[in-house]
Amino acid sequence: MVLKKETNALNPLLLSNWGKMSDENIILNLSGSKFEISTGVFFTIKSMQSPASAMLKQCWNPSSRKEILLERQSIAFSAILPYFQGRKLHMPLSVCPLDFQEELEFWGIDPSVMSKCCFSRYCAFFDEQQVLAILDNDQLKRLREQKSLQDRTMGTGWRSVQAKVWMVLEEPSTSVLAKIFFVLSAIFVMVSIFALVCGTHPTFKRSLRVSEWRDYFGSDFSKFEGHFSDSVPVNTTLPPLPLNVRTNVDALVYIEYITVTYFTFEIILRLIFCPSKLRFFTSFLNWIDIIALVVMYSKYFANLSNPKEKYTASIFDTVHCLQIIRVFRLFRLVKNFSGFRVLLYAVRASAFEVFLMSMFLLVAMLMFSAFAFFSGDESFPSIPDSFWWAIVTMTTVGYGDMYPKIGLSKFVGAVCAVTGVCLIAVIIPIFVNNFILFYVYSKIWERKDKPIIERDSYESKKIKFKINKIDAVPSVCDLKQAN
Ligand SMILES: [Zn+2]
Repeated sequence: MVLKKETNALNPLLLSNWGKMSDENIILNLSGSKFEISTGVFFTIKSMQSPASAMLKQCWNPSSRKEILLERQSIAFSAILPYFQGRKLHMPLSVCPLDFQEELEFWGIDPSVMSKCCFSRYCAFFDEQQVLAILDNDQLKRLREQKSLQDRTMGTGWRSVQAKVWMVLEEPSTSVLAKIFFVLSAIFVMVSIFALVCGTHPTFKRSLRVSEWRDYFGSDFSKFEGHFSDSVPVNTTLPPLPLNVRTNVDALVYIEYITVTYFTFEIILRLIFCPSKLRFFTSFLNWIDIIALVVMYSKYFANLSNPKEKYTASIFDTVHCLQIIRVFRLFRLVKNFSGFRVLLYAVRASAFEVFLMSMFLLVAMLMFSAFAFFSGDESFPSIPDSFWWAIVTMTTVGYGDMYPKIGLSKFVGAVCAVTGVCLIAVIIPIFVNNFILFYVYSKIWERKDKPIIERDSYESKKIKFKINKIDAVPSVCDLKQAN
């Protein structure tokens, strides 16, 4: 009996001897690794509702008692066997949880009986897989679309032309022309944003010309004419010109005309060559383009109908500020980078955590602003006024426009700051983990994304390498002959 305890599952010689010595024990051979089990354990396995039990029932012959060969993983079974022997179920580190799940199914064990220490790892793996399924589905969809587009280019007629042009417009990685188009688009987007940004700085403003003043004053121009001509006597009193009326330098105006023309041309091309019109009008990026263009054109039309609009603040400025939308065109440029897509997935997958963080922040904000107000410090005139202070303190920004001045409110402030740091320290890693998870996984996809021909050549190289290695090693028979 002492010997039985020392039985080494990985020592088949010892095991086979034992098989001969003891008639009561049964030998399970799992792909070469032999396990000696008692009849009790054997009948436990056989009584389960599982593929394993069905197989054992088939192979089991009580009269011959030969060892039973099962072509299953031995590492997983070395973890499963203790469970049948009445101990706890743990998952080996070296086995992929997906593999282990398959083995558990084969042996008819419910995963939930696993010990907590390993079950958390097991569950975390499947949660992760669920999250990654978003990326998988999306990538598969992209690949399928690319493939169908590529297939269409092989055809003839309008559909083929449409697909070819669309590839140039949408898939920068497919051809040199598409790359050039992508770079050109990128330059135009950058230049257009540059014009918007610079237009707000005094360096890029100039004073108005005479013709522009005429537009500006309209019928009142005659009163100010003296500023622009020498014929008017010097001693007549002239009303001063308004100081704050300035306009963009000409270069910026020309840049705007050029970029608007380019974007108009581009959106028309997209509309004509988009394989699905429905998708064209449901695309967020297309709507960005359309709205940005509509804003620009309405600005031009407003300027034409009322030239004074160009130089003054008016209701139209509300529409004018919509120009900011053109900044979103940057999304079209970055959407082809996997890193950006990964960031979007990470945000999507962390939506619940972001919501949780907002809830925590909200509760803490309400609590600390109330505490600060009731501390009696006159820096906090009301609870709503203290909201701002609480948020800024908890996010560790601390503008310093509001700060506690007395002991009690300082104490509240200190607790508020520490709570904020703890909250953020807990939530941020979840987001970071999701990002890293997606990023690593997207790298795998990038490899798979490579053209099949390229991958095939890589595979065949690998196989060749293996064959060479096998050739180089003398076989066992060779060695015997040499001896
Ligand atoms: Zn464990």
